[in-house]
Amino acid sequence: MSARLGDREADFAVAVIGGGVVGGTLAAILGAAGFRVALVESSETPSVVTANDDNDARVLALTRASEQVLRAVGAWQHISAGRPGEFRQMQVWDAGGEGRIHFASAEVGEPLLGHIVRTQVIEVALDMVLRHLPLVSTYRGSGLRTFVRGQDKLRIVLADGSQLSPQLLVGADGGESTVRTLAGIAQRVHDYRQTALACTVVTERPHGDTARQRFLAGGPLAFLPLADPHRCAIVWSLPHAEAQRLIGMSDAEFRRALEGGIGEALGTVADNGPRRAFPLSRAHAERYVEPRLALIGDAAHRIHPLAGLGANLGLMDAATLAEVILDAKAARQDIGALRVLRRYERWRKGENLAMMWLMDGFNELFGSDALPLRIMRNAGLTLANSAGPVKRRIIRRAMGIEGDLPRLALTGRW
Ligand SMILES: Cc1cc2nc3c(=O)[nH]c(=O)nc-3n(C[C@H](O)[C@H](O)[C@H](O)COP(=O)(O)OP(=O)(O)OC[C@H]3O[C@@H](n4cnc5c(N)ncnc54)[C@H](O)[C@@H]3O)c2cc1C
Repeated sequence: MSARLGDREADFAVAVIGGGVVGGTLAAILGAAGFRVALVESSETPSVVTANDDNDARVLALTRASEQVLRAVGAWQHISAGRPGEFRQMQVWDAGGEGRIHFASAEVGEPLLGHIVRTQVIEVALDMVLRHLPLVSTYRGSGLRTFVRGQDKLRIVLADGSQLSPQLLVGADGGESTVRTLAGIAQRVHDYRQTALACTVVTERPHGDTARQRFLAGGPLAFLPLADPHRCAIVWSLPHAEAQRLIGMSDAEFRRALEGGIGEALGTVADNGPRRAFPLSRAHAERYVEPRLALIGDAAHRIHPLAGLGANLGLMDAATLAEVILDAKAARQDIGALRVLRRYERWRKGENLAMMWLMDGFNELFGSDALPLRIMRNAGLTLANSAGPVKRRIIRRAMGIEGDLPRLALTGRW
């Protein structure tokens, strides 16, 4: 839908720019809760993907809290039909010592720790949900060009000339956010000088629903279990030059490198899909909100993928912003007022920042070859593995079920 609209048709409560996992979820929550929403996505409709399609290596480890949010909007039933991987155990260990930590969902009385889902499966599931929400109008194939803020509304112009007029503009348009750039919101950026290599692989031995991560000198290598017991998605963070070397290898050489990296637990690597490379940086917007404007997901923050948290944090942003908007409407407040939006910023900024520092700490601690750091991290892993209460807290954090969560993630209701 991208025709020029009459004034009344173009009136919306909220315009969400970016229909990825995070923006699509926010549009679905608000549309189901009774708001007129415009969702603007520059790419075309995502195509359906099968569980064993190894061509698209983008997968997400989703926490139980994210599952709860996606279930509440009605997307989870479609995601389940796409056969996500389930992980009940997690093993993290250091190539430079004996330290090792092993979690199992049973230790906190839960059936599983989380799911491994292809990003495209989530995008398709959200698209199906959005199509059935009469209050949501989706504009595909034409991105945001510019916007002007008025007293009560904004005027938004899309690349094809269509104009929209919402009370609130939400930037969910990813790391290169046009909304953030047009608003002139600066971000603090740190280049990790690492590239993440991602692809799917087939292993000789079954993964046993276990997510494995080994910290190597250059960065962490993760094997994440998919639905097929012999199929994993791998994410390997490495210095740029080393990543280039691995990209240049033949498939056979690359598989031998993977076997050397992860060790013996999964046997040989029998097959692999195409490799994709993602240069890694951390970025954090100086502000998440301005009058009539909010940023969520990667548009507001980008984090190292070593704990698989970026989209999970973004989904909590979406659920939190939705809660703030719903509460404002119930209190008859202007949903675009700065003091309303500040509640969202105060709630999420500290949480996101804490996770960013934690990931940087891990990356630096495990990336060092210095003997005192090696001793410290191995002792830390061993201690965390043996101390029951500490370990249970780590598990609950990893599942996303501890912390200051929005209602939707806690109860499944808005
Ligand atoms: C290697 C790797 C592994 C990762 N693994 C995990 C993991 O296991 N778990 C996890 O939680 N996170 C993980 N992440 C992070 C995760 O991928 C991101 O945090 C997440 O995809 C961000 O979602 P988003 O919707 O905010 O942004 P995006 O996914 O970037 O979506 C933004 C959308 O906006 C659209 N868009 C952009 N500009 C415009 C415009 N001007 N107008 C209209 N539309 C526009 C784009 O087309 C896109 O669809 C990983 C990241 C990497 C690099």
